[in-house]
Amino acid sequence: MGDTYEGGCACGQVRYVTTGPPARTGVCHCRYCQLRTGSAFGVSVYFASPDVTVTGETRPYAFTTESGRAFTTHFCPTCGTSVFWRVAVFPDLIGVAGGTFDPPTFWFVPVTEVFTRSRAPFVHLDVPQSHATSPAHAPVCDDPVARRGG
Ligand SMILES: [Zn+2]
Ligand SMILES: [Zn+2]
Repeated sequence: MGDTYEGGCACGQVRYVTTGPPARTGVCHCRYCQLRTGSAFGVSVYFASPDVTVTGETRPYAFTTESGRAFTTHFCPTCGTSVFWRVAVFPDLIGVAGGTFDPPTFWFVPVTEVFTRSRAPFVHLDVPQSHATSPAHAPVCDDPVARRGG
């Protein structure tokens, strides 16, 4: 048991409820997250899959990372908000987009910052753990140029 939080996409068609504390929190500067959000970094709030209930239709976009693992992001087909994702490296977790919670929006504390190799030079964050890539990073192929980490 624990606190519940709600959130959803910009247009309101996709909604979710989370229960209990997150399993992991962090900020990701990888190119995938920059492209997924159209912004400088992704804010990741991971929960055990049963702790997230999603309502409304999402559309998946799946691709394989340079570490050879599946990354599937789910976005609202109407407004395009990237709402949640699943990554093969955390098979039991679901990553909720940290900017999509209803107020109190940023109730969680990001603990880890990953893929600082492609961090935008104007971004300065107060996050205790920092990694140039990530502890699980194990490249097996080259990304297309647009997705390549700096
Ligand atoms: Zn929407
Ligand atoms: Zn990322």
